[in-house]
Amino acid sequence: MKKLHSNLFVTMMVAMLGAGFASCGDDADDNAPKTESNTNNGSNQSDNGGQSDENEPANPWVGTWRCENNRKPLVYIFKKDGSFLYYQENYYVRMDGSYVYNEAKEMLILSLDNGNTITYDVISFANNTLIYQTESKDSYTFTKQKDDSALGFYKDIYTTCPDNRHPHAIDLGLPSGIKWSCCNALAFTPDYVVNFPTPDKVYEYVSWGETKQNSDGYSWMYYKYGNAEKGQLRKYTDYDNKTQLEAEDDIATTWLGTPWRTPSKAECEELAKMCTWTHVTLFPLYITVEGYIAKGVNGNVVFFPATGSKGIRSTYDETEGCYWSSTRAENPEEAWYLCLKQSQSTGEVTHRVFSQPRHWGLCVRPVQ
Ligand SMILES: [Zn+2]
Repeated sequence: MKKLHSNLFVTMMVAMLGAGFASCGDDADDNAPKTESNTNNGSNQSDNGGQSDENEPANPWVGTWRCENNRKPLVYIFKKDGSFLYYQENYYVRMDGSYVYNEAKEMLILSLDNGNTITYDVISFANNTLIYQTESKDSYTFTKQKDDSALGFYKDIYTTCPDNRHPHAIDLGLPSGIKWSCCNALAFTPDYVVNFPTPDKVYEYVSWGETKQNSDGYSWMYYKYGNAEKGQLRKYTDYDNKTQLEAEDDIATTWLGTPWRTPSKAECEELAKMCTWTHVTLFPLYITVEGYIAKGVNGNVVFFPATGSKGIRSTYDETEGCYWSSTRAENPEEAWYLCLKQSQSTGEVTHRVFSQPRHWGLCVRPVQ
């Protein structure tokens, strides 16, 4: 009996290595043989309904699997490069990691990026169900999902980035062709990714046209370009007639280099108008992250945490997402920013571009 399981498992492994994973969007690192990918892609994923599943013992392991055990439902999304996302509903956990097999291929070892390891014994695999047992004798039954719809927006968010090397330029299918970064300027990861060992969320604010955070506070008194209230504004004024941030004053460019830059007012308006917006609260480990998902016309998404804005000492409106544009307002003391807000009464997300004084500390989401 053990032998049979091994054979099935080997078959599964072979299928996994050759199969395309249509829903992930990671075609950039597609190392699978092209002939295999071409035969599998398109014909396999959506058309076979349920009827041909039993006739496909080599159904690819890559994809979305729901795992039930005696505690909580878990969801794994396995990618063909060996990486996976580990996802838990209710007090959501998301961990990156990779999986490897022991030499006999009777054991699956999940290596989490937080350093933990989970080892499973393969008990059986048939009819899109895979039963494992852990070292502590907990039994896990994995059931292959026909599609990823059960994951809802989690799937959209957590599969948009092709790997852990952020920031990525996410194509939202916008008419301008502009791509939006998956994370904020001065942030190393998107804000739904927990940074061990210090997972507390810290957002990065800058005054308009400044290229680093201001430890003194975000008021005219400390503003790099002078105190407008005293008529001391020195750059981007009515006198120099500059209305667009120059590269040397653009934190997206100084932080990431060209072609990254801060989006213009028009590009913020395009994002606001063309995307479908959803307010969400995520639970990466034991913290919550509130924010807004922009779903582009091609289905890709970008997450904007509700960062609020920063005054002299404190943070305001932490339910809002406030992101600078690179465009000065007609009043040279102000600049345009994208404001994301959820209506208390209807729950709908409003997404508009407003102006406010340049000394305020807001986050910046780069584009290219
Ligand atoms: Zn990314």
